[in-house]
Amino acid sequence: MPFNREKLYSLMARLSTPLTREKIDEKLAPKNGLPSPGLKHTSVLTKDVLERNWDVLRRYGSLDAADQAELADKETLERLGAYSKNIENCVGTLKIPLGVAGPLRVNGFFAEGDFYVPLATTEAALVASYHRGARLITAAGGCTALLHDEGVSRSPGFIFRTLSEAGQFVLWATENFERFRSLTAETTRHGELMDVRFALEGNHVYMSLDFYTGQAAGQNMVTIATAAVVAWIRENTPVQPQRAFVETNFSGDKKASFLSFTSVRGKKVTAEVLLPADLVKKYLHTIPQVMVQYWQMAALGGVMSGTMGVQGHFANALTALYLATGQDAACSSESSVGITRMEVTEDEGLYAAVTLPDIIVGTVGGGTKLPSQSVCLKMLGLKGEGQTHCLAEICAALCLAGELSIIGALAADQFAAAHKRLAR
Ligand code: NAP
Repeated sequence: MPFNREKLYSLMARLSTPLTREKIDEKLAPKNGLPSPGLKHTSVLTKDVLERNWDVLRRYGSLDAADQAELADKETLERLGAYSKNIENCVGTLKIPLGVAGPLRVNGFFAEGDFYVPLATTEAALVASYHRGARLITAAGGCTALLHDEGVSRSPGFIFRTLSEAGQFVLWATENFERFRSLTAETTRHGELMDVRFALEGNHVYMSLDFYTGQAAGQNMVTIATAAVVAWIRENTPVQPQRAFVETNFSGDKKASFLSFTSVRGKKVTAEVLLPADLVKKYLHTIPQVMVQYWQMAALGGVMSGTMGVQGHFANALTALYLATGQDAACSSESSVGITRMEVTEDEGLYAAVTLPDIIVGTVGGGTKLPSQSVCLKMLGLKGEGQTHCLAEICAALCLAGELSIIGALAADQFAAAHKRLAR
């Protein structure tokens, strides 16, 4: 992490003036002792627990009763039970503005129809951009969407004394795959262990357990199943590891990684659309040729800056949609890896496609049952069983809408003006 010498010097000089050397040491030194009373963790969530948490916050800072009423408002207090499985040390609920983009027409394998897509964000211009792209796609008859792979992995790791032991362990573990499958089945009714893969590094063994997770996003499900497999391995393997860990950062959980292109984390989905030039002109005020020129330059910009995949702003769509529908918003870190491609067609129209290798969503589990989030799923027509694949295709279609809109704005030189108009 090298810093520019002058930049670092001027920053440090600015921060330390007019402090003496002793004052700086004192400011940066560890301070002993915990504030008392501190927050006490409890697994139940009641009005009394919430009040106790607020008591700590009021003593600690400058928060008053009006602040408490903002976060712990009447509606929140009335339905605390609905939140209890999704939060610890609860002090209330946060209100994030919710907008809708659409209709977005999707001609997918699972998602079929016109969707009004809920987007939770504090970013002005975001919903407007997706709305514009969605209307353009719909005016063109909709986009095609196809989910073409799925699975969620956990990657336990094992440390042995020697490479020889590590190799013998891999042999034994491979022979016991069916046992791992039955252990998984004891922990979940809907999840299924599909495959096991190995990576050897010296005397370390990384194991990738690949699961099908039904209608759930599945991160908890695969962790619980993997813990059962690891516990059984510890007890039964003839080649005892010195250490065993349930996860070794080799699954791509909550981080952008190259695994996106070699395997799948969640759902792998592609969406494409063909746009006649007159619709591009009408909705985006530009022509396909300039959009493709921009896309080519932006693709190389992505390569030169070392991005994983090449896309404009998948994270905007996915974070806002994940928040609205009770998904784990932090998973937009892995879900936002992907590819956008644009070409001019033979009849001078625009071909646009997006591929997202890691859409990790569910319509059961996680935050999907929370009061507001379940309404947003209902808005998409996705409440209940059997809808997760549909949600994944909508995610891809929405990303496509956003790519068309942002690339259109940049090609038409309207990007800054739109943000100035909408966000200032
Ligand atoms: P979950 O709520 O932990 O599990 C899904 C639940 O839904 C299971 O009890 C499952 O039962 C049940 N279910 C009912 N019908 C189902 C169906 N048709 N298909 C699938 N499951 C069905 O949710 P999750 O998706 O496994 O985990 C998502 C949460 O994990 C997110 O909130 C995320 O923040 C969190 N997370 C956890 C970790 C971790 O390592 N623990 C990491 C990242 C994120 P059965 O189990 O009996 O099938």
